[in-house]
Amino acid sequence: MADLTKNMSDVAPTLERFGSKTLGHFINGELESAESGETFQNHTPIDNSPIGTVAAGTGGDIDRACQAAEQAFPPWSALSGKKRRELLHQVADAIEANAEEIALIESYDTGQPLRFMSKAAIRGAENFRFFADLAPTARDGLSLPAEEHLNYSLRQPLGPVGVITPWNTPFMLSTWKIAPALAAGCTVVHKPAEWSPCSAALLTEIMHDAGIPAGVTNTVHGSGEVAGKALTEHPAIKAISFVGESVTGSHIMRQGAETLKRLHFELGGKNPVIVFADADLDRALDAVVFMIYSLNGERCTSSSRLLIEESIEQEFLERLKKRVARLTVGHPLDPMTEVGPLIHPQHFEKVCSYFEIAKEDGATTAVGGKPCLMNGKGNFVAPTLFTNAKNDMRIAQEEIFGPVLTAISFRDEADALHIANSTDYGLAAYVWTGDTGRSIRVARDLDAGMVWINSENNRHLPAPFGGMKTSGIGRDGGDYSFDFYMETKNVCIAADTHTVPTLGH
Ligand code: NAD
Repeated sequence: MADLTKNMSDVAPTLERFGSKTLGHFINGELESAESGETFQNHTPIDNSPIGTVAAGTGGDIDRACQAAEQAFPPWSALSGKKRRELLHQVADAIEANAEEIALIESYDTGQPLRFMSKAAIRGAENFRFFADLAPTARDGLSLPAEEHLNYSLRQPLGPVGVITPWNTPFMLSTWKIAPALAAGCTVVHKPAEWSPCSAALLTEIMHDAGIPAGVTNTVHGSGEVAGKALTEHPAIKAISFVGESVTGSHIMRQGAETLKRLHFELGGKNPVIVFADADLDRALDAVVFMIYSLNGERCTSSSRLLIEESIEQEFLERLKKRVARLTVGHPLDPMTEVGPLIHPQHFEKVCSYFEIAKEDGATTAVGGKPCLMNGKGNFVAPTLFTNAKNDMRIAQEEIFGPVLTAISFRDEADALHIANSTDYGLAAYVWTGDTGRSIRVARDLDAGMVWINSENNRHLPAPFGGMKTSGIGRDGGDYSFDFYMETKNVCIAADTHTVPTLGH
């Protein structure tokens, strides 16, 4: 309790700041109110009390931000890669210097336990450092000599781009999108999620104070249907990098069609973790618990379907039940908390609706399956385990996005693969086995953009990140990010030896 009291008093000055005046847009280096004068309220999921009001952006705000990004593009893209590297490192330094404040407010605003958010803030700084170091070589291309010509390619930044982010780990995700755009030489208009605006405001401030010039990054708050839509339709914006639900991706594709937007989508998932009988079951158990119950299960790569080999099902599930029942649900700023409140009452209702759906579908609620409010308040749910499930049940097909795991048994390798792939999603998959050959076969045959073998979502920044099927379009990470934010141009030079066709001679 002493740590919680200390953390609450540490976050108090930031809350005071966000509560005392409306959180504004950040356009062309200035904090601004909404053109319409409209605001919306932001709440903490701990007890749904207000944190403060936020400017509700509309088309006019988006237009000013896009114009600022358009004007800032020529000088920003003309800066040397070395200079951009220096500035982005300065942003990383500032994130590190403010990591505690970022983690505390992120935790208070989203309900994510502090034990995970302190690492997320540091990962945000790492994202900036990683792409900063690539800035000087981002424009490099290939040398492709032909018989009588030399082809070489080079890359140039697209122009102003839109970044639209969700409310789960919003700080980390925003840095993951914005850092490569800036390193490539693009300028940015960011529309953060309306349920978690606080850390986006801090990031904007940090980038500005670290020396990123006015107009290079702009932030417009507001709803997806109004501010987000306007951004995806704006003619100055050359590309949209979007993280969110699959259905929103479809809307954005339609909205961006008129202006032929380049699109990058990181969408939902219903990721399997396959545990074979020959696996190291102690390590597998730790990973299964971590990958669905950490971050409140509000994680795109969470392993929300456990596929367990029949021969070890009973024993593994007994151990799993004990672990799930022992998870510590509590105040997100309490360092002991493992599972905090869900982001918003609407999302809480959605997650709770699956407790009934599971019963109707005939699954067993082995652990949880109910809300567990704190002093009668907040969006807390009990960590939940459904067993005796079938893969065609809604709890096995739909993204619940909470601390809810659906366990399904399988007979053999072929059955496991069939179940794993029988979903519309294809983001991530996890495989636990002691058989190397099997790990190679299963990784090859899984329909997932990312497969972890005997591991739990360890990230390597140069590696491609993204999903197949309805889980996404395109890849992030290392050079993949630059391919999205940049145009590749080919130059073909003659050696003056080939025959030029002669017409009309
Ligand atoms: P969401 O799609 O509801 O919202 C995401 C963002 O899109 C928000 O900023 C929202 O305001 C905006 N938006 C909504 N409608 C829009 C529209 N018509 N035009 C433009 N913008 C619009 O998603 P969410 O509920 O905030 O986030 C949870 C989802 O994000 C889950 O499905 C999760 O799997 C996914 N996610 C995916 C990844 C990944 O890497 N694949 C990572 C994190 C989260």
